[in-house]
Order: sequence, then C-alpha cells, then structure tokens
Amino acid sequence: MKAELISVGTELLLGHTIDTDAAYASRELAAAGVDVLRRFTVGDNPARLEETLRLALSQSDLVILIGGLGPTKDDLTKEIAAAVCGRQLVPHEESRRRIEEYFKGRPLGETQWKQAMLPEGCDVLENNRGTAPGCVFSAPNGSLVALLPGPPSECEPMIRDQLMPYLHRFCGGAIASLMVRTFGIGEGSAAERAADFLEMQNPTVAPYAKESEMFFRVTAKAASEQEAREQCAAVARRLCGRLGSFVYDVNGDGTSQSCLENTVVRLLTEQGKTIAAAESCTGGLIAKRLTDVPGASAVLNMSFVTYSNEAKRRLLGVPEELLERYGAVSEEAARAMAEGVRRAAGSSLGLGVTGIAGPDGGTPEKPVGLVWIALSDGEETWVRRLSAPARFQPREKIRFRAASTALDMARRRLSGLPAEEKPV
Ligand code: ATP
Ligand code: MG
Repeated sequence: MKAELISVGTELLLGHTIDTDAAYASRELAAAGVDVLRRFTVGDNPARLEETLRLALSQSDLVILIGGLGPTKDDLTKEIAAAVCGRQLVPHEESRRRIEEYFKGRPLGETQWKQAMLPEGCDVLENNRGTAPGCVFSAPNGSLVALLPGPPSECEPMIRDQLMPYLHRFCGGAIASLMVRTFGIGEGSAAERAADFLEMQNPTVAPYAKESEMFFRVTAKAASEQEAREQCAAVARRLCGRLGSFVYDVNGDGTSQSCLENTVVRLLTEQGKTIAAAESCTGGLIAKRLTDVPGASAVLNMSFVTYSNEAKRRLLGVPEELLERYGAVSEEAARAMAEGVRRAAGSSLGLGVTGIAGPDGGTPEKPVGLVWIALSDGEETWVRRLSAPARFQPREKIRFRAASTALDMARRRLSGLPAEEKPV
C-alpha cells in the first residue's frame, strides 16, 4: 500500500508548530509496511488544499489529511475532502452525543456541531480525547482518504489505536510489533551489536535513538496476529540476548517517552521496596519522573532537593568537613547523600546526585557535565561518574541524562545486575 500525507495548517507553514503528527504517522505506517511516498504541508487555504488532495489521490492508495477538523471557520479539511470525493456531509449521532457529553455543564457554541458532520458512508474513527472525530472513506478512484484531528494528543492515539488496526485489513495478514528498550549503550555500539538484525526482512528491526537511549522496534507480518506476535517475541528474545543487561524493557507500546521510571517503579513494587533521592543538579527530576508513573505512591514516600550545602548537611546529615574537603560535586558527597537520604526517608534504596549542569560553574578539574551519582541499599553504595560529553550539551540534557543514569542504577540493583556494564 502506498500512502501520502497532507498536513493542513498555516501555523505549520510558518514554522510556529512542528509537524509532529506527520512524523508519528510516518513511523507507524512504515512499521506496518505501508510505503509513505510524499508528505505535503498546506496552509488553511481551500484552493491549495483541494489541488494537493487531487494530486495525492491520483498517485497513491491512501491519503491521510491531518488537522483542520475543528469547530472554527478556518477548519476546512473535511468540507474540501468530502467535496472532492463527491460525498455529502451528514450528521453523525454518536459524535453529537459525545460533543454534548464533553461540554456537559459548560457553554456549547453552535460552531461545535460542525464537528459531528461527517462524509456520508464513512467509517468513523472515535476521538476519545477531544470532540472532532476522524474518519475514513473512499474516493471515486478507489483510493482511501483518512481525516485526522491536528492536536497531537488526539491525533497520535487515533493513529495508533484506530487507524492502524483499520488499515491492517487492507494490508493483508496481521502485523504485530514489540519495542526493545535499552539504556546506557551508545547508538554506535547498539547498532553494531544488532547489525544482522537490522538487515532482516520479516520480522524487521528498526532502531530509534532517543535521549541517551536506544530503542529497537521489532515488527512481524504473518497470516494471523498470534503468529505475528510469536515471530516478534522470538526475534526480540534473540535481540535481548545480544544487547545484554542494557535492555530495560520489552513491550508492545512504541509510543511512550522514556519508561526507565516505569521499570523502576514496577521492580520496586514487585519486591515491596521503596526509594528516595537526594537531588542536587537534577533539582527533583528523578522524583518527578518516578511520580509520573501511576502507582508510584507505593514505592516513594518522600524525596529531597538538596541544592545548597546547608540542605545537604541539615536534611541528609552530610558532614561539613566532607563538603569542605572534597566539594559538593564529588564522589564522597554523592555517597553521603545517597546514604543520608536513605536514612532520612527510611527507604530501601537511596539515590544521591550531584554535578555541574552548566552552562557556567565549570572548572578544569570539575567541568560542566561532570555528575556523580550514588545508590545505597544500606549495605553497599555504588557510584557512577558521568563525564563532560565531548560535544556541548545543554543543561537540560545533562540533567536528564543524570536522572536516567540514576534510575538505571536502581533498575540494575533491583535486577541483580552489575551497577555498570561497559559498552563494547
Ligand atoms: P481543533 O479541534 O483543536 O481545531 P483541528 O483538527 O482543527 O483541531 P488544527 O486546528 O489544525 O486541528 O490544530 C489544532 C492544534 O493542533 C494546533 O495547536 C496545532 O498547532 C496543532 N497541530 C495541528 N497540526 C499539527 C501537526 N501536523 N503536528 C503537530 N501539531 C499540529
Ligand atoms: Mg482547528
């Protein structure tokens, strides 16, 4: 199946909004074996939208239009697409009901009803996060047209949960995929280790480099879903063997951001353990990421942001002499923070993070990017040192990488793995 995408919105053309929807759709389609041939961006201009849609329809089996399904006057996608395909817009009862429910107790403007008008005979893609439904219908030449809402929080789940399963019917057979997530192995090393997997045809293995993480998406196509799942699982198992202890998760969801924190919360919950962090340069990011995970309250009781020396002393009991002698950014300070926070919070594990996130504050001995991270379980304390990266990294990246490394140390400890594995 060959597809083309049309993103609609003047804000996209002006560069005010980045077209993340089309990127997401491209990834999903590629994973399902649909070839995306071209992507267009047009403004909220009826004539140019019509011209682009006619062109796309003439050269592909599927045209996906993104954006412009909303209630406002400049939302014209549906009207144009229906007109080009010779379909009337008719009221869709279920969508009217959803709009009513959505606005319950709030004023509902007349323009909202426009969203419940859909091309006659279309298949509706429900919008569970907003009011504008999506839909799929065929053009006179037999090509399929899909309309999706613009807001990424609505568009992405609709692609994943509704459009893709819908399209599988046309692709023949069933498709299943699994995501193998790794942390701590560089992009180059990971790709090298997995080189022969990346050459495979079915299942296919596609690498994604994320913020200091590498994901591999394994996708299999088979006669039945069960068979596709089994093929995926078999390849994922072999791939995990190759990637070793860097793998922190294997699952079917290729969408959520980083989920190191999910793995840590899951392991802690399973083992009935708790965690607390003493954060200096990460400023609460570890606690934030842990509490992003539903159910974190079972494993996190309190956590500390100890930015100043005084806070490290007073809340964690880090000795004054230690801070004076080695400095707040030191292996010794990180250790004392991890041990101190574990005591203060009464948790099973304590994390201590101290470093220089920049852009200022670096010295030749302690450059920007230097971060010490310690993990204490009450018996032993492990320490890792992150060094200044070769190329400039902004403050937020240094902080994110430090938080990820701390979470990964906890993950390794909870899994009985060595604190660190050198990527080879
Ligand atoms: P709404 O009901 O909100 O009007 P819509 O389907 O009409 O939705 P738009 O009006 O085009 O969509 O865009 C709504 C929001 O989604 C805007 O904030 C816009 O910047 C964002 N958006 C639109 N298209 C994209 C895209 N392709 N990628 C990322 N964001 C997008
Ligand atoms: Mg709109």
